[in-house]
Amino acid sequence: MNIAIDGPAGAGKSTVAKQLAKELKYIYVDTGAMYRAIGLYLIRNKVDLDDEAAVAARLPEIQVRIGYRRGEQHVYLNGENVSRRIRTQKVGNAASKTSAYGAVRGKLLDLQRALAAEQDVIMDGRDIGTVVLPDAEVKIYLTASVDVRAERRYLEYREKGMDADLETIRREIEERDYRDMHREIAPLKRAEDAVVVDTSDMTVDQAVEAIRAIAAQRA
Ligand code: C5P
Repeated sequence: MNIAIDGPAGAGKSTVAKQLAKELKYIYVDTGAMYRAIGLYLIRNKVDLDDEAAVAARLPEIQVRIGYRRGEQHVYLNGENVSRRIRTQKVGNAASKTSAYGAVRGKLLDLQRALAAEQDVIMDGRDIGTVVLPDAEVKIYLTASVDVRAERRYLEYREKGMDADLETIRREIEERDYRDMHREIAPLKRAEDAVVVDTSDMTVDQAVEAIRAIAAQRA
């Protein structure tokens, strides 16, 4: 059985999916991390992110790989473990911009499908239920108000000791959501057969419980 979780930035997808994967003994696949790894490479190499042809031309130089250590997903960019380096707002914005390009999405699609074909996965992203795994047995659209999502990201950055400004984060989240929802290829939207879970007023445990109940019903 595969579980697809889509939704906007900061809805709690990765936190909830990680916890549920542990409980159900599924593999957790964070597809955003793959787009972020590509974004990081492009930033490092000073590629103009608004230039689709320039981005596409660099893709053959980029190898993204996913590995698991003690149940945790790690993402490797040309052999380097970049799992921590990709967790910045700058890399997230680069991922959001360049994930709109067909060549970028095509590069990651096979890798994502192969991971799900090998084992039971909980995969999160923006187009998992609609494009990557349209036959997933369980589809969740996880969302929350923009205020709550901005606040969560802010606390996450502060906890990691990173500089953070709530207003900037909020604006960037809104921009990112708009881009993700309005791009031509694989935009973020609820799959017709996805169940909406709004986590605005939920704790992590409550959100996990809600999804577990939906999964049990589908199973
Ligand atoms: O989920 P995360 O914030 O790590 O994703 C970073 C960016 O990668 C998103 O804003 C989105 O543009 C892109 N993404 C995507 N499709 C996915 C996962 C992420 O386009 N399945």
